[in-house]
Amino acid sequence: MVNYKDLGLVNTREMFKRAVKGGYAIPAFNFSNLEQLQAIITASSELRSPVILQISKGARKYANPILLRYMAQGAVEFAKSLGCKHPEIVLHLDHGDSFELCKDCVDLGFSSVMIDGSALPYEENIALTKKVADYAHQYDVTVEGELGVLAGVEDEVSAEESHYTRPEEVIDFSTRSGVDSLAISIGTSHGAYKFKPEQCTRDPKTGRLVPPPLAFDVLEEIEKKLPGFPIVLHGSSSVPQEYVDIINKYGGHLPDAVGIPEDQLRKASKSAVCKINIDSDSRLAFTAGVRETLSLHPEYFDPRQYCGVARNYMTDLYKHKITDVLGSDNKLANCD
Ligand SMILES: [Zn+2]
Repeated sequence: MVNYKDLGLVNTREMFKRAVKGGYAIPAFNFSNLEQLQAIITASSELRSPVILQISKGARKYANPILLRYMAQGAVEFAKSLGCKHPEIVLHLDHGDSFELCKDCVDLGFSSVMIDGSALPYEENIALTKKVADYAHQYDVTVEGELGVLAGVEDEVSAEESHYTRPEEVIDFSTRSGVDSLAISIGTSHGAYKFKPEQCTRDPKTGRLVPPPLAFDVLEEIEKKLPGFPIVLHGSSSVPQEYVDIINKYGGHLPDAVGIPEDQLRKASKSAVCKINIDSDSRLAFTAGVRETLSLHPEYFDPRQYCGVARNYMTDLYKHKITDVLGSDNKLANCD
């Protein structure tokens, strides 16, 4: 049993409180390799932003859970070496699907876990979430639950159709399950194809898809029921067209990839939404960097040459999200 506090990590409680009050959101970036982690920590440290490192079940399988945990521990020291003396880094399990997986992560040194019982019947979702919360809270690990279903595909999580969170259920769910934060469904979606072309309109000038707006009325209802309670948005990549264009230009094939427009996320950040999950955008930036570099330099065979470019693209992306979309820069309790 390792306690995250001994690793220099923090849970989400204090940073969420400050984010809700301050009208900004904490970035939750997924990682499964060294370059992503370097880019996340470089961006968040330089900008003095609290940050949530997310590991999905798929990432655990890909990169090994023990190695990922030690990488997160190394991230704290890395942040300090970059001059950020008091980093606030959360190690979070994304989409935990069983009590055993969540317990394993708590025991390994995670400071926060998500238990996603959103596909279960309502009462079963509460029972499972409460079981995880009761266990995690013994070690002061914070817990995220989910109500409502997001469409799209992310690792092992996938659903054909979304259904919005029902505001009338949120008080009962959060009280009885004991969660510290709640992921809701208001029209965001997993993956790089968040909407089918028939759900969108097309910009006549560029020919690009324009997605339907998020259901801010549902978010407002939820905020009224649970004033100040931390709300989480999954599936909130914007699928930047600059990266999609680079990928398609250099041999990729991502027709009609579409995400959540950043103005919608900016608006959400100012509400009780205090954690915004971004994964696909980083994957796109990485792929754009690799494809472009290998196409322009067929003589390259050192992974540092193309992964280095990919890492720079991701660092720029994370900085942009922190500063221009979520507003979490200079929000550490101590920015020294
Ligand atoms: Zn998700």
